[in-house]
Amino acid sequence: MVDLHTHSTASDGTYRPAELVRLAQGEGLYALALTDHDTVEGLSEALSAAKEAGLRFVPGVEISVRFEGSGHCHILGYFVDPENEVLRRTLSLLQRAREERNAKMVEKLQALGVEITLEEVAARAGGGEIGRPHFAALLVEKGVVRSPEEAFEKYLRKGAPAYVPKARLSPEEAFSAIRAGGGIAVLAHPVHLRLSPEELTRYVARLKELGLSGIEAYYTDHSPEFTALCLELARRFELVPTGGSDFHGRNKPDIKLGRGLGNLRVPDECYDRLYARWERERTALSPG
Ligand code: AMP
Ligand code: FE
Ligand code: FE
Ligand code: ZN
Repeated sequence: MVDLHTHSTASDGTYRPAELVRLAQGEGLYALALTDHDTVEGLSEALSAAKEAGLRFVPGVEISVRFEGSGHCHILGYFVDPENEVLRRTLSLLQRAREERNAKMVEKLQALGVEITLEEVAARAGGGEIGRPHFAALLVEKGVVRSPEEAFEKYLRKGAPAYVPKARLSPEEAFSAIRAGGGIAVLAHPVHLRLSPEELTRYVARLKELGLSGIEAYYTDHSPEFTALCLELARRFELVPTGGSDFHGRNKPDIKLGRGLGNLRVPDECYDRLYARWERERTALSPG
């Protein structure tokens, strides 16, 4: 069993990167990837913990990209170098945009009569990137709403009164940042694009032209039929099928590491094939 999609306190998960590694080891995972939203800040801690634990570890990142449609598009970057300057600069632009967005969301909530400050939200994020899940947790803590779901429904979801859109890269920009960082790009949770099978096929074909290397076929929100469709697309477009739980710790308490909602089992060979693909693309690109 492997888990190639997880979040730590560096973004909106609740476990520190090193804790996540120990948890993965305790679960007997064959391999783990850390894929925080728009940041590589958790990777060095996870890398040293994984080395110590003797766990196969993939340094990753998850980037939200512009997408026309009712769903959303996230691109996973795998085997990225957390020290790479081009990648870091691109991500720091997103982080600055996030800071402005967070300030605007605080203002909107205040205008709606919710007593809330940026400092309080920041405290919930524990030093990592601040996002809507931290707003949701704080609104629950303050008794403004009863659950994170209600916080999203009443205030934070797209179209709700405190929502502020997030600055996003184009898919091209995300691919080139991942490539610059030495990594390979994989389409995350294709079901969240909310496309028909025909539309998804066309979209994957387009991403393949931009250099897509894999598709997250195994995901807890995928029906067996949808996973089969993703595996078919992987064969057709020569993509590595990958999978993961999208573990967020206590921010998504029903999702378990490696198992998702209980219906997830990502084959070990997903890691082996991803690693082999990265090796192959890396040697194809770098001279000598
Ligand atoms: P952000 O990057 O700040 O826009 O926050 C995105 C995160 O919010 C995602 O990773 C989800 O975990 C969470 N999220 C988005 N929409 C919802 C929703 N309707 N209900 C619960 N969580 C959500
Ligand atoms: Fe998240
Ligand atoms: Fe995602
Ligand atoms: Zn994720």
